[in-house]
Amino acid sequence: MVTVLEIYQLLPKTNCKICGESTCMAFSVSLLGRKRKISECTPILEVNFKKQKEKLEALLLPSAGAEETGMIVHPELCTGCGNCVVACPVDVANDPKGAAIGCAPTNDKVIFRVVDGKVVASNIKECRRFGKNRVLCYACIDPCPTGAIEFV
Ligand code: SF4
Ligand code: SF4
Ligand code: SF4
Repeated sequence: MVTVLEIYQLLPKTNCKICGESTCMAFSVSLLGRKRKISECTPILEVNFKKQKEKLEALLLPSAGAEETGMIVHPELCTGCGNCVVACPVDVANDPKGAAIGCAPTNDKVIFRVVDGKVVASNIKECRRFGKNRVLCYACIDPCPTGAIEFV
């Protein structure tokens, strides 16, 4: 898991406020929370910060594809066991004939389904972590034997 301090170390650390944040540390927090983009720190786009910018991009790359919930599914870790499919309360509620009885999904309303041996997440707006009233649900993380599901 990337830390705020790791991000901060790669920023220009001048607290110039060009990004609209009061400090580089505040910008680091926003970057980690995916509320801001690296390019909003215009000083880091200058040539003398090229290496730092590249390192920062590499550091944040794993979260670049995260859905609005912060969910990342690491396909290289997924064994396709299906535990998350039947553990997700949304799947259980939306698929009484499949996920709710511990089986493969029978409709398209589920969040998780296993395709070609790897889990695929869709309908992400249905996730309990989505939106203003989000709940910190861990139901898909805990039963995953390989740690393939991460929230950033
Ligand atoms: S624009 Fe960049 S250098 Fe300036 S305060 Fe924001 S993060 Fe720091
Ligand atoms: S966080 Fe909860 S609601 Fe969201 S996908 Fe995972 S189990 Fe389902
Ligand atoms: S529980 Fe983990 S390993 Fe199993 S299908 Fe879901 S993501 Fe893949």
